[in-house]
Amino acid sequence: MEQIEKKNIKELYTAEVIAARIRELGAQIYQDYGDRELVLVGVLKGSFLFIADLARAIPSTEVRIEFLGLASYGDETKSSGVVQITADLTKPVEGKHVLVVEDIVDTGLTMDYLMDNLRTRHPASVKLCALLHKPSRQKKHVPIDYLGFTIPDLFVVGYGLDFAQRYRNLPFIGVLE
Ligand code: 5GP
Repeated sequence: MEQIEKKNIKELYTAEVIAARIRELGAQIYQDYGDRELVLVGVLKGSFLFIADLARAIPSTEVRIEFLGLASYGDETKSSGVVQITADLTKPVEGKHVLVVEDIVDTGLTMDYLMDNLRTRHPASVKLCALLHKPSRQKKHVPIDYLGFTIPDLFVVGYGLDFAQRYRNLPFIGVLE
C-alpha cells in the first residue's frame, strides 16, 4: 500500500485502528441484542467491508445478513437527498430487529430516507450503525445508535468508500488530497 499513499491519499485510520473499533462495536451490539434474531442490512456498495468485519465481531448465532442498494442523485461528492432503491431486501423484515450498516452519514439525507422507508415495513425495531459521521455537514438529524468515528469535513476513501468507484479496496481510510 506504500505506492497508494504516494498517490495523494493521506491515511486517517489504519486497518488496525478500524479493526479495534469494530471489535468494540460488535461487543456493544451483542450486549444490546444478545442472541435475539438480528438482521444486519448492509447498504451497497460502501458498507461491504464494514458489514463483513462487523458481522464477525458479533458473537451470536442469530445474525442474518441482507443488502440494500441505494442510488442517490447528485454528483460524485455530494448527495441530493433524492434516493432510489436499486436493490431491495430478499425477505420481509416485519417483526424483526433490523440494524442498518452504513459506511458514512454525511448530510444525513440518505439515511433519513432509508430509515423512514424501513419503518413502513413494521420491523420490531430499526437502528443505525455507521462507521463514519461528518456532523459539520448535517442537513437532517438521523440518530446513529452505533458509531465508529466522527470525522471533520473531509472527503474520505478506502475501506469500502470510493471516489469514482476507485479505492474501495484500500484496507485503511484515507483522505484524498
Ligand atoms: P448523505 O446522504 O448522508 O449526505 O450521504 C451519504 C452517502 O454519500 C454515503 O453513503 C457515501 O456514499 C457518500 N459520501 C458522503 N461523504 C463521503 C466521503 O467522504 N467519501 C465517500 N467516498 N463517500 C461519501
